[in-house]
Amino acid sequence: MRVFPREGSVRDICNMTFEICKKHLIFLGPPGCGKGTQSENFSEELGYKHYSTGDILRESVRSGNELGKKVQVIIENGDLVSDETMKEIILEKFNSISKDTKFILDGYPRTLKQAEDLKRISEESEIHIDSVIYFDVPFDSIIERISSRRVCPDCAKVYNLLTLPPHKDNLCDECNVQLVQREDDKEDAVKHRLNVYKENTAPLISFYQSEKKLTKINGNGRIQNVFNLLKQELLCL
Ligand SMILES: [Zn+2]
Repeated sequence: MRVFPREGSVRDICNMTFEICKKHLIFLGPPGCGKGTQSENFSEELGYKHYSTGDILRESVRSGNELGKKVQVIIENGDLVSDETMKEIILEKFNSISKDTKFILDGYPRTLKQAEDLKRISEESEIHIDSVIYFDVPFDSIIERISSRRVCPDCAKVYNLLTLPPHKDNLCDECNVQLVQREDDKEDAVKHRLNVYKENTAPLISFYQSEKKLTKINGNGRIQNVFNLLKQELLCL
């Protein structure tokens, strides 16, 4: 068993033995679980590329190739990108990067079908997923976290009544205007998104468990603590 020093030196260890860090990761978890924030941390501090589904789609459109044009039409029509098209896009992405590229997939795969597609993509591109991190956060906390979000209609600054409240009650610190709640952040909307997640994405947890790739992380702590936890877990594997 490896023994890790207390908090503070975790980063040194990670940098020291960087070659054993897992390179190709999937971040999995319900909306609002904090995986986006942690992806940014990984990208800023550890040099991982953050491949969110939205970014990959936009990049494909920008490339202007046949596939990109197809994606552009789908997006302009407001349609959902099919599993088959997603598979082509991810394969194109994997074929365009070197095997040493450290990355996090965020938002793909979203369904069991896509997870099976990704297996085939990995075989074809020879880029294999090393670890799947599941951010475990109770739904109640997520509902509370997201429905406490407020945003300034003028400068778009985001506040949180629980964790990052404005100085004056419900007024933007910068603009002094009334903060508003986005439709997407209202409790019913959050509950709906969580139900969709539960139906489509939650089955991926057992899929990756059976593939022996899943690591569960308690995502319900402070951002820096969760980040340290993640780094330790990735080294321990
Ligand atoms: Zn403002």
